[in-house]
Amino acid sequence: MTAPVTIPILPFLEGRKGQLILMRFWSKVDMRGPDECWDWQASLNKAGYGRFKIGSFINVTAHRVALVAHSLTDPPGKFALHSCDRPECVNPHHLRWGTVQENSDDMRRRGRSNNGEQEGFQNGACKLTEDQFALVIAGLQGGLNNKQIAEGLPVDHALVSRIRRGRSWAKQAAALGWVPQEKYASLTTRISRPTPETRNA
Ligand SMILES: [Zn+2]
Repeated sequence: MTAPVTIPILPFLEGRKGQLILMRFWSKVDMRGPDECWDWQASLNKAGYGRFKIGSFINVTAHRVALVAHSLTDPPGKFALHSCDRPECVNPHHLRWGTVQENSDDMRRRGRSNNGEQEGFQNGACKLTEDQFALVIAGLQGGLNNKQIAEGLPVDHALVSRIRRGRSWAKQAAALGWVPQEKYASLTTRISRPTPETRNA
């Protein structure tokens, strides 16, 4: 099997260009005391996480950028988890690296404590909450393979594969910034795929 594609953030944050990106990043943050929440002031995705663009086509979550910038690590397959349970918060002191399982445990706990009813995504026998769906997309964006993403979620890897390729829930996935992939086509091959014009030229 081809290795899953990861979009590492750290290389983008290095050097002079990286400094400029980070200046742009922190300008969108309501920075407060070290123990307080620092809320993201720009747009949020459907799950409530801040959205940040690196370059013109790479969408990442703001809290992950904050943790990468602060810890200077970017562990593939790990999630940036909140200790404050507030997705819009990007205070690095409220963030830590964790596994898919810890992340979905967090989501479940939060779902219960909020006592909130969550809209479900229906697909046959499978039902995902919106948070869990966001987790699937985060897994795809983080470069996990279908089986890794399906682990700990009420979804099978075949469905993850369909979401990856834009065959299921394409609209919801697009709303979270997901661009459908055929298998694990790399970013470069997707971008350089010839358009009809260049083919006919
Ligand atoms: Zn916080």
